[in-house]
Amino acid sequence: MPFELPKLPYEYSALEPHIDARTMEIHHSKHHQAYVTNLNNALAGTPGEHLSIEEICKNISKYPAPVRNNGGGHFNHSMFWTILGPATGGEPEGDLLAAINSTFTSFSEFKAQFAAAAATRFGSGWAWLLVKDGKLAISSTPNQDNPLMDVAEVKGTPILGIDVWEHAYYLHYQNRRPDYVTAIWNVINWAEVAKRFAAAK
Ligand code: MN
Repeated sequence: MPFELPKLPYEYSALEPHIDARTMEIHHSKHHQAYVTNLNNALAGTPGEHLSIEEICKNISKYPAPVRNNGGGHFNHSMFWTILGPATGGEPEGDLLAAINSTFTSFSEFKAQFAAAAATRFGSGWAWLLVKDGKLAISSTPNQDNPLMDVAEVKGTPILGIDVWEHAYYLHYQNRRPDYVTAIWNVINWAEVAKRFAAAK
């Protein structure tokens, strides 16, 4: 099977109290595993099973819906685990902070715009910070779509993605998506986001 569930780089409880251990366990071992299993099943015996998930996303309009949904789910969650972490939060530094300040005027204004994108995405989806034509931008996508996809409204390289599906927060936050988004700033791994920013520019 070409695609595999990546190991979570920290314990399920590592993001407590902001993201609870039970949510992390179900999210990683059940939801993400299901995207991987269903993606492998959907691609079995096709040329797609020899491609990277990034290549598949970039040409997603050529694939059937199960590849779009589960391939997006696999890419998005693989990134999501890495941009979170224990002993993180705070503010970005260096080039990334400078780019945030010049694009959004300040880090707090960036957070406000990002939170608005997350809050106004109706139903299930993701909020993104991405690099588009060398510049930072905020967007959101429905379902498991992402900015790499040729079908995305705003296309580019995602460097930070926040899952706003109810499965990402409902056990602890119930219907309070904005509270979840406020809390998640405490566990953002800005060093990883900065690494992705440098690679995307
Ligand atoms: Mn999810």
